[in-house]
Amino acid sequence: TLKAPVQVEEKVKADLKHIFGFSHFRGNQELIVDNLLKQRNTFVIMPTGAGKSLCYQLPAVVKEGTAIVISPLIALMKNQVDQLNAIGINAYFLNSTLSKSESNRVKSEVLKKNTKLLYVAPESLTKEENIAFLKEAHLSFVAIDEAHCISEWGHDFRPEYRKIKSIVAQIAPNLPIIALTATATPKVQQDIQRNLQMEEADLFKSSFNRTNLFYEVRPKVKNESKKQLIKFIKSHKGKSGIIYCLSRKKVEEIADLLKVNQINAAPYHAGLDSSVRIKNQDDFLNEELDVIVATIAFGMGIDKPDVRYVIHYDVPKSLEGYYQETGRAGRDGLEGHCLMFYRYEDILKLDKFNKDKAVTERENAKVLLQEMAAYAETGVCRRKFILNYFGETMEEDCGFCDNCKRVRETFEGMDFLTLALQTTKLTNQRFGLEHLVKVLIGEKTDYVTSYKHDKLEVFAKGQDQTEKLWTSVFRQALVMNLLEKDIENYGVLKLTKKGQEFLNEPYSVQLHNDHDFEKELENEQPE
Ligand code: ADP
Ligand code: ZN
Repeated sequence: TLKAPVQVEEKVKADLKHIFGFSHFRGNQELIVDNLLKQRNTFVIMPTGAGKSLCYQLPAVVKEGTAIVISPLIALMKNQVDQLNAIGINAYFLNSTLSKSESNRVKSEVLKKNTKLLYVAPESLTKEENIAFLKEAHLSFVAIDEAHCISEWGHDFRPEYRKIKSIVAQIAPNLPIIALTATATPKVQQDIQRNLQMEEADLFKSSFNRTNLFYEVRPKVKNESKKQLIKFIKSHKGKSGIIYCLSRKKVEEIADLLKVNQINAAPYHAGLDSSVRIKNQDDFLNEELDVIVATIAFGMGIDKPDVRYVIHYDVPKSLEGYYQETGRAGRDGLEGHCLMFYRYEDILKLDKFNKDKAVTERENAKVLLQEMAAYAETGVCRRKFILNYFGETMEEDCGFCDNCKRVRETFEGMDFLTLALQTTKLTNQRFGLEHLVKVLIGEKTDYVTSYKHDKLEVFAKGQDQTEKLWTSVFRQALVMNLLEKDIENYGVLKLTKKGQEFLNEPYSVQLHNDHDFEKELENEQPE
């Protein structure tokens, strides 16, 4: 039987046009809105800038009652509410910036039943008095924005987020929930669904492929990189760009460097006076400034369509963060250049910053850092690498990243991949990458001997090659979808169907050498 394509009612489309001013839905928006209007639990994974807000704002307008929007971005709440008010939608927020009398006013407005959206910070949601108030209110559904904050495996874990489900259950157990995020690896996705007890929710996952973004990584050689930075910006004269640095100090230093070189740039970080910060941000949005040099505090909720490049002068803490930040380039669909300066030393530095964290937290942060380093050093198509990280498989190279554009060193990979997959299989698909590599290079760690992996036929079969090379082979097997990470036992590698087929009947595959940035840094001149 033919299924009629899903279409929301005319009334909803009219609201899309008359209230929000959009003549069409984008991507999955219509399906998502329709799903939520049918009272279904809904899980949305959509890259930054794709239009997540509309997915709950429109249903909130259409449905009776007030929609609760939980968001950790307190600094943006007022802005979002102002924007809604400006288009005639009644909305309020509850967070720690409000005084007692202000929050009381918000509550009484909501109880008058004419409020469509109420933004709530997670730490406000957990307060007894607010729970009591929400029990009284007439609610339509709950939207959980930035839902990846639920997961310890993600890059922005917030413990309060883990309480949301039980609180919503107290307030109104049958309210539909829509969870939204712009970054979720398969592991994080599973974690979110389990924690919210919405495994049965309908999942709407858009592709993360931003085809108009060009990805590039260069070695970070002290003086040389600064010259390259200036040259890059000058070759994009009059175009808007964002430079991300890790520390406030570095932001100031680079902003000064650019200014001295007649580049129209200004800094942005949380340590600046708020009036200066706001001015710099506005100047950037209004094209008074070409370049903003910023910490990651900059960019959330900012919607400048014509950012032509995003440069990471320091390596970010995770690929999730990197992807979100580079996602601010080319929102208008025209080309955006994403350039990162990388040195392994920066990864070690970042790891050291985590030394006071709790053990699991530090371990998780370390895994994220290792993925980041692997991305920087890979010789594989960068888009393939990133998409694989977010659980998507791409068959062909993109042709639009630095690795695709250069002449690459490749080597015949059939025997290497065969050994890697055999090792995975002979250890019963229960170990992580590091352990498998140790077995191959023949290192008798305690783990290796206690599992008697030194007795396997593959033990030390790869001892002619370095640990680094084997690590790269395993990673490429992941990107090629011969191996996958077991999401139940994170880090454990398993054969995919494709991997099993490869083992049964190996075929010729070209593998790519990783970059050897360290070698390029050897000749570095002291600053
Ligand atoms: P996200 O939260 O996914 O990063 P936003 O919700 O902020 O994205 O939306 C990004 C931009 O896209 C906003 O400027 C928004 O007004 C615009 N937008 C959203 N939906 C549509 C649509 N259907 N048609 C045109 N523009 C849209
Ligand atoms: Zn590519």
